Amino acid sequence: MRVDHLRRIGALRRKLTRAGLPGLLVTHLPDVRYLCGFSGSSAALAITRRSVRMFTDGRYTTQATEEVQSPRIDVEIATTAAATAAAQWLAAQPGVGAAGFDPNHTSVAELTRLKEGLPARLRKSFFTPLPAPLVETLRLIKDDEELVIMRQAALMGCKLFDHILPIIRPGLKEVEVAAELEYKARLMGAEGMSFETIVASGSRSAMPHGNASTQPLPRQGFVTLDFGIIHKGYCSDMTRTVHLGTPTARERNAYYAVFEAQEAGVAAVSSGVSSGDVDEAARSVLRREGLAEAFSHSTGHGVGLEIHEAPRIGAKQKARLQAGMVVTIEPGVYLPGEFGVRIEDMVTVTRTGAEILTPATKALIELY
Ligand code: ZN
Ligand code: ZN
Repeated sequence: MRVDHLRRIGALRRKLTRAGLPGLLVTHLPDVRYLCGFSGSSAALAITRRSVRMFTDGRYTTQATEEVQSPRIDVEIATTAAATAAAQWLAAQPGVGAAGFDPNHTSVAELTRLKEGLPARLRKSFFTPLPAPLVETLRLIKDDEELVIMRQAALMGCKLFDHILPIIRPGLKEVEVAAELEYKARLMGAEGMSFETIVASGSRSAMPHGNASTQPLPRQGFVTLDFGIIHKGYCSDMTRTVHLGTPTARERNAYYAVFEAQEAGVAAVSSGVSSGDVDEAARSVLRREGLAEAFSHSTGHGVGLEIHEAPRIGAKQKARLQAGMVVTIEPGVYLPGEFGVRIEDMVTVTRTGAEILTPATKALIELY
């Protein structure tokens, strides 16, 4: 499916006009990729009401012509930093007396450098911080092209989980499990992992972010696997917790409490529902089980070109979910010195509920 970057830029222009800005400088790389398709590590996009120009450097000449396919988006190979070149170009455009920039992704040092590249008379007033992020707001709602890719990405994650299950056994090191997942991901065509793979076994599973260590997997105990791949720029994210040997009653109860909380969270997802209400749906199950204290993070997050993006699914979050958002639902309980359990799915918000993108089983798997 061909991505319609001009449609995205058109939507952005309407927001720009509403904000009263004749120009926009985009320097956050995932935003650049979203708007023009370029995936290189040096890029800036300059947008006015009439034209769009992507700036990169000489290392990316070939890649830029391959990836930026719309004839309406100009590509310029800059001899200075891409953002500086884009800023100078914007300031030279007729009728462009000001340009917005995203203060969330521009450091003070970067802004100073950009201003120094402008003619003296423009330095003070040309750049205007956007009152609210424009591209990020567009990226919140995934279009059909993105949803196709994200479904594929999530299914690749599920395949990896199926692949790793028969390999997991006591004595194997956590890093060996992570390495196998990552190796297989590359063979499947993933561009990379979307974050450092978490393999946390035994008492280490009580760490919500237990990156794989050299610790061997125990004979008895949980193994939490939290991983994701990058497919066509988009991240997948899923967590499953499996058990080596027979779980104790306490482990089983904790597992099924998290399972129920996770399903309650997914069931609460729907267009128009506040993020806080989704969080509460999951959290209330764990509270009822006396595990409220053990659930020490928020219920989920948006995912897309970045592994963590808006919206945040956390306590008291007022923002309402909208159809087309892709979020994770990932409650967990962590009992220090004992064990932890987390279960995470990626879901698309629909008008009437949620479409689960990671259908891998959530039943408690016992491995021997
Ligand atoms: Zn995750
Ligand atoms: Zn996550």
